[in-house]
Amino acid sequence: SSFSGLGLNPLIHAHLASKMDIQKPTSIQRAALPVILSTSPDKLARDIFIQSQTGSGKTLSFLLPIIQDLLPLSSLSYIDRSIGTLAIIIAPTRELAKQISDVLESLLKLRLRAMDEAADDANTSRLTRWLVSGLLIGGGTRTHEKARLRKGLPILVATPGRLLDHLQNTSTFNVSKCRWLVLDEADRLMELGFEETITGILKCLDGHRKLALQAVKEGIGREVGGWDWERRRRTI
Ligand code: AMP
Repeated sequence: SSFSGLGLNPLIHAHLASKMDIQKPTSIQRAALPVILSTSPDKLARDIFIQSQTGSGKTLSFLLPIIQDLLPLSSLSYIDRSIGTLAIIIAPTRELAKQISDVLESLLKLRLRAMDEAADDANTSRLTRWLVSGLLIGGGTRTHEKARLRKGLPILVATPGRLLDHLQNTSTFNVSKCRWLVLDEADRLMELGFEETITGILKCLDGHRKLALQAVKEGIGREVGGWDWERRRRTI
């Protein structure tokens, strides 16, 4: 079996094979991709739980649909980075956030190829730079992070504390168009005592259309943040 029957854009599929040496979906990817890919944030879908062990390929099962959702936007001429952040991935530790960010970076090299193929106007070089990812994990200076947020970071990987800090204190951090929210290792986020922080984050993001994914290692994660997971969720 391959990625082609799962609803994945052939450009992404080809990029996985040739640039990342990823040929076949893992079982969680086979189960999750068709569901997430067919559940666009525009449809105000139910939120999704993905349950799968570390090492099973869980990261790509949420990153690929996000990229596939955002990629077409980068060819729209009205898009620029002032649109703000469209996808936020929250991870419990800096290490995990860095790992996710590394995978994301290698996926985003795709935008250059995709745009090359669509290159037919002078705006292309501006557009190819649009789909950028950022890492907010503390450790760096706030000033530097604020400057990056002001320019716009369409996809953000963050640890909870620093993310909430910027949501509350960085006025140029625009999340009004945010379409995706992922709580990776949501069970560990809870174990580490981030429930209140996540609640605060969800409040800042509330009122916007978005599809939230909770990825957990085992069992169903606890309901977090007053989010009505029970009513909305779909478990894979
Ligand atoms: P994860 O469970 O998301 O942390 O992924 C574990 C490792 O498996 C990472 O190094 C991925 O690059 C790799 N990986 C993810 N999906 C696949 C796949 N379909 N085929 C081969 N390797 C994969």
